Amino acid sequence: MAPKLKNCSNCGRIFVDTGLGICRDCHEKEEEQMQKVSSYVRDNPHSRVRDICEALGVKERLVMRMIREGRFVMDGIAIEYPCESCGTLITVGRFCEKCSKDLQSQLNQQQQKQAAQAAQAKTGLKAIRSLDMGMKGMR
Ligand SMILES: [Zn+2]
Ligand SMILES: [Zn+2]
Repeated sequence: MAPKLKNCSNCGRIFVDTGLGICRDCHEKEEEQMQKVSSYVRDNPHSRVRDICEALGVKERLVMRMIREGRFVMDGIAIEYPCESCGTLITVGRFCEKCSKDLQSQLNQQQQKQAAQAAQAKTGLKAIRSLDMGMKGMR
């Protein structure tokens, strides 16, 4: 595959993309920051994302990416970050327990509604058919 020239999504410079999406300078900087974050979290377990960003001057996006990639879980470190729905601090997944339950029941309700609608459509069809047959019988 021929090397692709791309604009670095971080600094905007044109570079040869090797699948990282950012230039080598930015990648190196990010790796450095990630290492800083890792050692900070190791020294300060149960830190919040905001604390880490303030202490190290790194972007929240970077820390969140590290969380999603499971870097802290691998290290056995619990890190607190807000639930994507209500903002409650959580340490695993994307939503807190309450929101996952809510989402699950919403999903169930939706499925039940859809099933009910499907059943209704069927019985509706039957009703029309029997009406039709009734009319035929009257003729
Ligand atoms: Zn860059
Ligand atoms: Zn929540």
